[in-house]
Amino acid sequence: MTGMSYQRSNLADTLHGLDGRSYGNLKQIRGRYDFGPVTLFVDRVQADPFASPSKVRVRVDRAEAKLPLDLTTERADRIAAADYLLRAGNQVLSKLNQRALILGHPGQEVLERTNILIDDAGFEARLLVNLPARGRRILGHQAADILTRDLPEFAERLFLFDRWSDTNSPSAHRLADHVQLHRDQLELRSHLSEAGLIGFVGNGAILPRTSGDSDLPMKSSEAVAFISPPELEHTINLSSGRSVTGMGIPRGVTVIVGGGYHGKSTILRALERGVYPHIAGDGREWVISDPTATSIRAEDGRAVTGDDISAFINNLPSGTDTRFFSTTNASGSTSQAANLVEAIEAGAHTLLIDEDTSATNFMIRDERMRTLIPAEREPITPFVDRVRPLLTRRGVSTVLVAGGSSAFFEVADHVIALDAYVPHEVTERAHELVGVTAEELSRAGNLPTSTDDSTDAGSPTPDPDTSSFATPPRIPTAQALRPASKTKTARAKGADRIQFGRDFIDLIAVAQLVDAQQASGVAEALEYLAEIYDGRTSLTGALAEVEDMLDAQGLDGITGHRDHPGHLTRPRRQEIAAALNRYRGLSLER
Ligand code: ADP
Ligand code: MG
Repeated sequence: MTGMSYQRSNLADTLHGLDGRSYGNLKQIRGRYDFGPVTLFVDRVQADPFASPSKVRVRVDRAEAKLPLDLTTERADRIAAADYLLRAGNQVLSKLNQRALILGHPGQEVLERTNILIDDAGFEARLLVNLPARGRRILGHQAADILTRDLPEFAERLFLFDRWSDTNSPSAHRLADHVQLHRDQLELRSHLSEAGLIGFVGNGAILPRTSGDSDLPMKSSEAVAFISPPELEHTINLSSGRSVTGMGIPRGVTVIVGGGYHGKSTILRALERGVYPHIAGDGREWVISDPTATSIRAEDGRAVTGDDISAFINNLPSGTDTRFFSTTNASGSTSQAANLVEAIEAGAHTLLIDEDTSATNFMIRDERMRTLIPAEREPITPFVDRVRPLLTRRGVSTVLVAGGSSAFFEVADHVIALDAYVPHEVTERAHELVGVTAEELSRAGNLPTSTDDSTDAGSPTPDPDTSSFATPPRIPTAQALRPASKTKTARAKGADRIQFGRDFIDLIAVAQLVDAQQASGVAEALEYLAEIYDGRTSLTGALAEVEDMLDAQGLDGITGHRDHPGHLTRPRRQEIAAALNRYRGLSLER
């Protein structure tokens, strides 16, 4: 037995002996303890009963666990299996009726998280525990029950295959189904780009949620299940033998129209989350999007640092250079332009835009207004004039919800009309209405749009668009992410905010950030980035480094802790970039 290792009775005895003593004495239980097949690590002990909870891990070696190797070896399978064990672990905890132990509650997505670790050697659960007290006195007997009775029992029920036959315990076939569904979803996503698609919505999908503050599916008795228009229907055969039929959204510009309350935003929101796999029963299992798809909206009031928004905004009355645009308080249109160019900088190949959350003057300008206000007096080139060049020059597709204006018909490859939640392909009819043919449309992408031609005729300044969307890399200064305050720097405060030094980064408009645990992942990524930025590395170059590190070492690698990393979910580079871009302290080399 090593110096750090003790018998079960030792920890129990210690805790019983600490009963009634002042809380600070708990510190001494840090260490490693063996409980038969289960190893318990007490990594961090809270300083007082009201501090953030203590951190503990329980671990079982593979030889003892005997969990199926074929489901827990490949990297992607480990993510799905860990997700399964996390959900099953919460059920075990509720059966043990032990509320002091916190394993973390996942949402509807299957994501890479730190809560359960599967590695070559074994299986590990990372928990938080509120060690009990009365006032500031240790409740030692209760603490002993939690740590030396319930926690090892939890680990045995969760990780020992031989115990899975117990009623209500994890089950081998549910684990297998969970992993296989994840494999199938990933495989379908990998088929998307070969099939020329940027999104897929399976027939039978339940897209609406129970309420605006819930991510659970609407009851199937109330929801209208999704059914593809025949023109867009695809069937994808997967190697598992499963075949999935549904609507394919082709690369290009797709406009979703329809009356108010007919389900337009609901589809777009499902596509936003379709960048991640979903659990069985979610209703969105077969909503699969381009993994880089990024939701773009107006966000007035946000800070912008050094964005090139000149493709959309030029000749501001202030004379501000919009090729290096900074503000502490962006308008609706400038914020949406910034969100868009930042998304492209972070690697988005698909943009998801909803009229509900867009600045109208960023999106469109009607003919009368174009006549009344000449182009050189209007700083904004609306998105409708840029959506095709974005596609043809940068390969960026757009899915746009627009129920209030026909302006996008002329630039749409596909128009889908929702009628009482049922989609219909209406592209031909829409093109007829605006007198556009498919041939003209394909040419339109390669030329400046007709509006630019007419209004810029004779103008000596070339269309700024010809060189745009490919902005020079932004280089943060070496100090950009080192806030002055010495306190622990980045920390998520719920899903909507990160505290960074003395500043707060507001993430409420970052629609694809899944939950608080993922916001914590973003916070850790910011800390990691702070180490990379040296005044020479570009913003995106460093993001790529973070991704490489995450791919190589997993989420544990990002924290710098050697033991318990806390509860983190892996964010996409898009959401890390979103936080970085909203940081008011960001400074760039010029
Ligand atoms: P729109 O953007 O077209 O105005 P929404 O997508 O916001 O419409 O949907 C309006 C309402 O209809 C929401 O309460 C939503 O939950 C509900 N809803 C959306 N799709 C469906 C569906 N397929 N079946 C039942 N209700 C739905
Ligand atoms: Mg809507």
